Amino acid sequence: MTDSVTNWAGNITYTAGELHRPRSLDALRSLVAGSAAVRVLGSGHSFNGIADPGPEGVLLSLSALPAEVDVDTAARTVRVGGGVRYAELARVMHEHRLALHNMASLPHISVAGSVATGTHGSGVTNGSLASAVREVELVTADGSALRIARGEDRFDGAVTALGALGVVTALTLDLEPGFTVEQHVFTELPLEGLDFETVAATAYSVSLFTDWRAPGFRQVWLKRRTDQPLPDFPWAAPATEALHPVPGMPAANCTRQFGVPGPWHRRLPHFRAEFTPSSGAELQSEYLLPRPFALDALRALDAIRATVTPVLQTCEVRTVAADAQWLSPAYGRDTVAVHFTWVPDTAAVLPVVRRVEEALDDFGARPHWGKVFTVPARTLRERYPRLGDFAALARELDPAGRFRNAFVRGIMESGEAS
Ligand SMILES: Cc1cc2nc3c(=O)[nH]c(=O)nc-3n(C[C@H](O)[C@H](O)[C@H](O)COP(=O)(O)OP(=O)(O)OC[C@H]3O[C@@H](n4cnc5c(N)ncnc54)[C@H](O)[C@@H]3O)c2cc1C
Repeated sequence: MTDSVTNWAGNITYTAGELHRPRSLDALRSLVAGSAAVRVLGSGHSFNGIADPGPEGVLLSLSALPAEVDVDTAARTVRVGGGVRYAELARVMHEHRLALHNMASLPHISVAGSVATGTHGSGVTNGSLASAVREVELVTADGSALRIARGEDRFDGAVTALGALGVVTALTLDLEPGFTVEQHVFTELPLEGLDFETVAATAYSVSLFTDWRAPGFRQVWLKRRTDQPLPDFPWAAPATEALHPVPGMPAANCTRQFGVPGPWHRRLPHFRAEFTPSSGAELQSEYLLPRPFALDALRALDAIRATVTPVLQTCEVRTVAADAQWLSPAYGRDTVAVHFTWVPDTAAVLPVVRRVEEALDDFGARPHWGKVFTVPARTLRERYPRLGDFAALARELDPAGRFRNAFVRGIMESGEAS
């Protein structure tokens, strides 16, 4: 590539020979059909090589295609183009007094890239962002168009699909009537005596944050829908100033706190669209495991606090409702997700990532597809019972493996061995 292209975090430089920004679907189709290896780059917020097509490959950005956001108010659905980000989508939804069921911690990320990796927010009854998808439109390896709708056999393999089935040119999402959310922040929730199930269910979306410098949680963020009861939260003290989840970062970057009501898209993410999300200089890892194991898993992490803290900026604990998507980290199980924002130093972070993976191994933890992990393919195979079905679907839609980069091959080979 003439100019090197990196991911948002700057820890990955894509090795692709070329970055193309097709201006029409026809140009996109011929690029795909004429390339031996191809991958789409969304907004580049993943922390590993998932989007890299390799040195011989073509990297495609959909940013020059029309940013379609077509709302059907009667059906309460929206059809959204493959390059659109949540911030743009949410603005239009809000104008129509409609809402998505949930959002990730930031609105800066693309919809197609987020659902491809199983990106999620929090809430015991909230599925991942992919659970809102009702139809996927793809340009497949031979350049032809394909639609797969909810209810069809292949659908559960086609949404959280790691970009391996083709270019997602549009997604149709379920919507609901717009709603209002208040954000309440508390400090110092002890681990000792924690009733995780009760705490996680106190509000529509709950996040616990810790730096692991001491047992327990430094912050609790409750996002309450105003059409649901005001929770009693006797286990921690209300914050006395606005907080950022990463110690030392400005609270001005975060969505409003202190219970000020606001529209869903300005409260469900932690970070405001017009500011840098999170710390901005970081790596991330995340592990998703069955919710009943939450307390034991947190105790296992507490036991390795001294190893974790030197490279940790913040750790966030959230919940995700079970779904049926084959490669979803919440496949078949109500889930607790334990996230780590690390310092931006791969060499220092990787040994700690391995320690965390060892600590969470007994709980069947599945790594977030878009973050840093070292879990071997044979382990992923045990943890994703439909991986073989996914590999078969990828072969059916892309027999020559144009969309199968090194990241996907590693995972699929583990699935095909069955
Ligand atoms: C600051 C920060 C905060 C984050 N917070 C959260 C969070 O709250 N919850 C969470 O779960 N994750 C979170 N993440 C992770 C992030 O949501 C995922 O990495 C997500 O995949 C990013 O979307 P993207 O568009 O940037 O994807 P990219 O990294 O660009 O791509 C991810 C994958 O999607 C594929 N892809 C993208 N677009 C298409 C398309 N149109 N067609 C086919 N394939 C496509 C790519 O090829 C690649 O395989 C966070 C990341 C950052 C940097």
